[in-house]
Amino acid sequence: MRKKELLIQQQNEIIEEHGLIYLENVSKSYSTGSPAVNNMSLNIHRGEFVFIVGDSGSGKSTLIKLLLRELTATSGRVWVMGRDLAKLKHREIPKYRRNLGVVFQDFRLLNDRNVYENVAFAQRIIEVSPGEIRRNVPTILATVGLAGKYKAKTRQLSGGEQQRVALARALVNNPAILLADEPTGNLDPKNSWEIMKLLEEINAAGTTVVVVTHNKEIVNAMQKRVVTMRKGVIISDEEEGTYIDED
Ligand code: ADP
Ligand code: MG
Repeated sequence: MRKKELLIQQQNEIIEEHGLIYLENVSKSYSTGSPAVNNMSLNIHRGEFVFIVGDSGSGKSTLIKLLLRELTATSGRVWVMGRDLAKLKHREIPKYRRNLGVVFQDFRLLNDRNVYENVAFAQRIIEVSPGEIRRNVPTILATVGLAGKYKAKTRQLSGGEQQRVALARALVNNPAILLADEPTGNLDPKNSWEIMKLLEEINAAGTTVVVVTHNKEIVNAMQKRVVTMRKGVIISDEEEGTYIDED
């Protein structure tokens, strides 16, 4: 018990000092080519909203995968929620990932299930009680504007609606951090804005939000922190930043 308390205290100290997400000189190389992430250092504090931008191939998705612990760093260290991800044991990874909600460009829904089931599923795998699931799922679906669509099969929904389902699924377990890798990549401008506005609301309610995007117009309008990557390196990191064009 005392050992566990000490560990939590250490984690809280790292969070206080360095942020909820903390990379120190992190590189990630695949078997071929130059490093996808190259000696990157980054601190993201609790409650921040951060855009990650940069040309295709600049290492943005690799960064997201490092945070999800789908990949491990070739060198340097990654701490998330005060935990050194290199020290996570395999059996600890599912529990670690409960701290994170994730949304992707291609939604990744269970297309043979309805909206309700897609969201409830995320709660069942962490063994939330049936009664709580029946309370939580409608609440989160209302938050993303999908009250009344519970029974629709996800493949019958528009892209914007599908991304809302994905967002509800990412949020239903109340993660500390939401990671979104090009969440509006398959959406028209109107739906892109609606998703970004939802991400902003989620952030305002306390969740730390990291959004990889190519949407220049939205980045420039929202006046958030903007981290620009090029060839695995951060070339710019600005509060209330703008989208930096490469050419
Ligand atoms: P972005 O998301 O910014 O487009 P990625 O992180 O996907 O960039 O890719 C960064 C670099 O790493 C690219 O050069 C890409 O080709 C390479 N890369 C990504 N995934 C792999 C992989 N699984 N195996 C080998 N190279 C990869
Ligand atoms: Mg990518």
